[in-house]
Amino acid sequence: MTVTYAGLTDLTPVPASKPKRDVARAMLLGAKGLCPNCGEGRLFGKYLKVEPTCKACGEELHHHRADDAPPYFTIFIVGHIILPIALAVEVAFVPDMWVHFVLWLPLIVISSLLALPPIKGALIGLQWANYMHGFDPNAIGDDQPMYDFGGGNEGR
Ligand SMILES: [Zn+2]
Repeated sequence: MTVTYAGLTDLTPVPASKPKRDVARAMLLGAKGLCPNCGEGRLFGKYLKVEPTCKACGEELHHHRADDAPPYFTIFIVGHIILPIALAVEVAFVPDMWVHFVLWLPLIVISSLLALPPIKGALIGLQWANYMHGFDPNAIGDDQPMYDFGGGNEGR
């Protein structure tokens, strides 16, 4: 049985003609808030607002699809750091509940706000380095996925 997706027979997502990009370097630059292509232009114009294009090299950055991944990883990382500390404090000192609220709520909010930009930047660097989404010059349309799996995106 042969399955074709949107009439495509070549399902190679990254043709060999494209230069290989250093994923670790792109993620590191993105985590620093820098363009994953040149490392000089800024990735974010505002807090989490991605610049449409790099002002230094002109690379189109608006193709990213970070979506819910940065909050997911932020919750995962911040939660795994703060929760054990909060439990250790509870076991060691058995403080009143208001002490937990005063200690952990601001710490959770501040660390999450600090962690979001580098995590989002790293994910954008990952997408850029792997030619994901619109970063692929051979993608169908601007930011359309390369393959149609029948998900009902026709109205987009
Ligand atoms: Zn750049």
